[in-house]
Amino acid sequence: MVFLVVCWVVTIICAVLGFLTVATGIAEAKGAPQQAAAAAMGVAWAVIPYCFTRAVSAIQREVRDRQRTRRCPMCAELIRGEARVCRFCRQELTSDAAPVLSE
Ligand SMILES: [Zn+2]
Repeated sequence: MVFLVVCWVVTIICAVLGFLTVATGIAEAKGAPQQAAAAAMGVAWAVIPYCFTRAVSAIQREVRDRQRTRRCPMCAELIRGEARVCRFCRQELTSDAAPVLSE
């Protein structure tokens, strides 16, 4: 969680650097190719850290979701840890994952 916050801070700093790169690069450019290069550098500064941080965020969410799951003892599908009924086979479950046989 701390790592994700650090990633977002770095992403924001890089976005500001990207904006400055575009602004100064275009102001100092002597032609269209240099302006295009400055714009590309600025976009890269902003977009690459953003994509990295979004990927870190998605991976952390995926890991967190997997830690909250368990296998249904009847059908072996992954279900949420706090589930009382399996969403795949409709089997009632006790809190320790042992099946409660209906009927
Ligand atoms: Zn099941």
